Amino acid sequence: MAAPSNNHWINSAQECADFAPLCQNQSIDLAIIGAGFTGLSAALKAAELGMSVAVLEAQTIGHGGSGRNVGLVNAGLWLPPDQIEQTLGQQAGSTLIQRLSRAPSDVFSLIKTHDIACDAHQNGTLHLAHSPAGLVDLENRQAQWSKRQAPVSILTAEQTAKFTGTSAYYGALLDQRAGVIQPLDYVRGLARAARNAGTEIYENTPCTGAKYDQGTWHIDTPEGKIGAKNVLFATNAYGQLGAAHQTPKTSIVHYFQCVSDPLTDEQRAQILPDNHGCWDTGLIMSSFRLTRDHRIAFGAMGNPQGIGAPIHRTWLKRTVTRIFPNVTWSDTTRMWSGRIAMTAEKIPQIVHRDNAVMVFGYSGRGIAPGTAAGQDIAAFFASDGRNLPYLPMTESYREMGTTAKSMYYELGARVVHTVARS
Ligand SMILES: Cc1cc2nc3c(=O)[nH]c(=O)nc-3n(C[C@H](O)[C@H](O)[C@H](O)COP(=O)(O)OP(=O)(O)OC[C@H]3O[C@@H](n4cnc5c(N)ncnc54)[C@H](O)[C@@H]3O)c2cc1C
Repeated sequence: MAAPSNNHWINSAQECADFAPLCQNQSIDLAIIGAGFTGLSAALKAAELGMSVAVLEAQTIGHGGSGRNVGLVNAGLWLPPDQIEQTLGQQAGSTLIQRLSRAPSDVFSLIKTHDIACDAHQNGTLHLAHSPAGLVDLENRQAQWSKRQAPVSILTAEQTAKFTGTSAYYGALLDQRAGVIQPLDYVRGLARAARNAGTEIYENTPCTGAKYDQGTWHIDTPEGKIGAKNVLFATNAYGQLGAAHQTPKTSIVHYFQCVSDPLTDEQRAQILPDNHGCWDTGLIMSSFRLTRDHRIAFGAMGNPQGIGAPIHRTWLKRTVTRIFPNVTWSDTTRMWSGRIAMTAEKIPQIVHRDNAVMVFGYSGRGIAPGTAAGQDIAAFFASDGRNLPYLPMTESYREMGTTAKSMYYELGARVVHTVARS
């Protein structure tokens, strides 16, 4: 029997995925590199639209952010909607906001249609005010969403305590469009649905070369080659393409999580009784939610493998004890973590040239936006470019200083976790 993983999503998964590596040559309409939410939702949609599709995954389904994240299926992006319109312009911003307002419902509807066992609850998520200034930020967000008729409301500190089971917060923004899922089960369920729709999926099959020549992409892998009319590079923060293909750089933010022991019946009646997923307004943010086996999964920004590990670990122990004093956390050293690709403007990017699309930089909000991007890009390819995705496409993306920015985020997390009140 395999030793339990630190990643609780692996230990508690109900959906299975097991695909053999590619070991022959193929000629298809669409090759997809990377089996996360983006790649697999694109594969499912493209197969439904009649394209022949193959997905190549260097490791296993959900190895990247899709199998490691918090599972908050949120609407919109991390940026407030007015700021999205200011950045992209009114028309492009409003197209994105409308598409991503609907995107959580699209995710929950895929889950229902394909009967994905991913412990889904669309009861809303809570953005928690960690300070009085955080509450002002949430009130601004609520005003902006209300102008757009979105079902979001402010909860008082007392209401927030009732919804969460802790009185550590100053209030919250409840977004009823959103919800929670077990993310690894969702991505594995997407793989099952895509395979049933006719997609070929290959695990342990890294793309080692990609060249465009006279209208065809030539994709190399260790034991097989693919010729494809179109290609989608859906590797986000986990790209291992090396010399195979140049992917744009973004900053990387590390985020870790850890689970409590199972809650008692009495605690279950008080802590997140309606299964809301939560995250806070801190610049170095934290999150918590319930798991299907009634534990709290608590997470925060920071790299638990780097030299800051002792700082993050000590902070975690102190913080979970402060926020949920009666809950037992037997082993806060068993953390799992993932990499978040963050763009300068905190808006994802879609780069398109030579019948290839690269989508990346979800900036911590990739479940609904990644699913929607995959679906839109499939429709774009299937319509020979007539149906455009929710974001304007560019021919290239270049961001300066990504290494320095990544260090800045990690140092920020260490400083905040060192000085945070106990
Ligand atoms: C810890 C954490 C918490 C997060 N929490 C949330 C959240 O609560 N809500 C939310 O909406 N978003 C969240 N996110 C963001 C979200 O998880 C990501 O944006 C999303 O998973 C990106 O999906 P993707 O399919 O684009 O990429 P990924 O899921 O990262 O998949 C990329 C895949 O490409 C594969 N790959 C790389 N190179 C190659 C190659 N050469 N050949 C073949 N395959 C290759 C990788 O192995 C990987 O499996 C979080 C992210 C992290 C890391």
